[in-house]
Amino acid sequence: MVSSEAAPLAKTGGLADVVGALPAALQTLGDEVAVVIPRYGFIDLKTARRVWDRLPIFLGPARYDVTIYLAPEEFPLYLIDCPELFDRKGLYGEGGVDYPDNHIRFALFTRAALGVARFLFRTEIFHCHDWQSGLLPPYLRTTFAGDPTFLGVKTLFTIHNLGYRGLFLPSAVAQTALDPALYRPAGLEFYGQLSYIKGGIVFADAVNTVSPTYAKEIQTPEYGFGLDGALRSRANVLYGILNGVDYREWSPENDPFIPAKFSPQDLSGKRVCKARVLEEFGLPASAISAPLIGVVSRFAVQKGADLIAQVASAIVDEGMYLIALGEGEPEYEDLFRAMAAQYPDRIAVHIGFDNALAHRVEAGADIFLMPSQYEPCGLNQMYSLKYGTVPVVRATGGLNDTIEEATGFKFSEYSAPALLTALRAARQAFSSETGWRAKVLRGMGQDFSWSRSAASYSALYRQLLG
Ligand code: ADP
Repeated sequence: MVSSEAAPLAKTGGLADVVGALPAALQTLGDEVAVVIPRYGFIDLKTARRVWDRLPIFLGPARYDVTIYLAPEEFPLYLIDCPELFDRKGLYGEGGVDYPDNHIRFALFTRAALGVARFLFRTEIFHCHDWQSGLLPPYLRTTFAGDPTFLGVKTLFTIHNLGYRGLFLPSAVAQTALDPALYRPAGLEFYGQLSYIKGGIVFADAVNTVSPTYAKEIQTPEYGFGLDGALRSRANVLYGILNGVDYREWSPENDPFIPAKFSPQDLSGKRVCKARVLEEFGLPASAISAPLIGVVSRFAVQKGADLIAQVASAIVDEGMYLIALGEGEPEYEDLFRAMAAQYPDRIAVHIGFDNALAHRVEAGADIFLMPSQYEPCGLNQMYSLKYGTVPVVRATGGLNDTIEEATGFKFSEYSAPALLTALRAARQAFSSETGWRAKVLRGMGQDFSWSRSAASYSALYRQLLG
């Protein structure tokens, strides 16, 4: 697996969770998996073993020497060390600004991953994830087409989020030593730019995304980000495989981050968690009996922050409370700060990335809100189910595939009134203690563990290998 993120070492979102958990689930099924990620500056090498010294990689006129480390994870995790490109604070940028050499960084990364396959880990399938590894299939099919090392090797490309297309200036073609013939609309060109995600979409042997609904949606102009045509042309090899949940990390029975454990058999700890999280967010203890809405999210246009802002006053009027944890685009951070400033006793926000606090929000809230514009799979709504926190979601992508009437509340139209109708229904349901409890317990009983998804991936690998 070639990925720019893998939990717990490097994470900005769901991609890291998937790459951190799927390999182990595949190993359980008997597959041999190694993962390759960049060695970002913040990844400690103390426990890692250096397994390859100064592998030269030529990108056009430039030469990079990378060192490869093997980290002791549950599966072989190779770290590509190239300090001049990856020894930085962020994964993709800082302060909301992308690094200007991301095209070089992730081109080099995929070339180094090919090096891992050549020298360190005999590879039959490259499973690439998102635009950051999108150049691997085109390199393999052009630059390395005649290379006996890679004879019969197949590629699977997984789209975790089509919104990030990896777009760069046409000059990147030369800088990354791509075959110039690739720069055409049927190849990697995207309306005058070079698109890395198209590398995966067009050149991989199979493509999948992380839920069945999103696999259909991305073939339409509404959700296709201009790539729906390219995706439709791969429809015969385009699959939807739902992500799983790592219940070792996300279970209220044994979660080290929450102040009291709880289970379907004994829910009493959930009230303790609610009291604690109210305190942590500086909301009044008297809110304990009112419905508490939780949000954990990257603050990006995709996640529907604008809809939440539009219903803030109605949430307050309805007697509900809201806590939000997130960071991201300054515009949405400000939007949440403004809501909290306007209703200081009712709405509270914590700007930042804090995994432990994310667990406490999941455990302490009654309702989990995810009004996404689009959602390839979404993990938080599945975590919520496990923590007895009833999801209110927009019926899109993976949210549509994982939440049903029995376990949550869905709305279809991307509008404040539609969201409010769903929130009011949740508020109404909350007032019936037995009805609510039944919904909570049905959610807690759902099983989205990795074993099913891993079996689907394993079957797809085998299909690719014939
Ligand atoms: P996406 O990948 O689009 O961000 P997902 O729901 O698939 O959305 O995954 C988000 C993951 O990142 C979850 O594990 C969630 O708990 C975590 N997460 C998002 N924002 C934060 C934050 N501010 N602090 C801690 N964890 C966060």
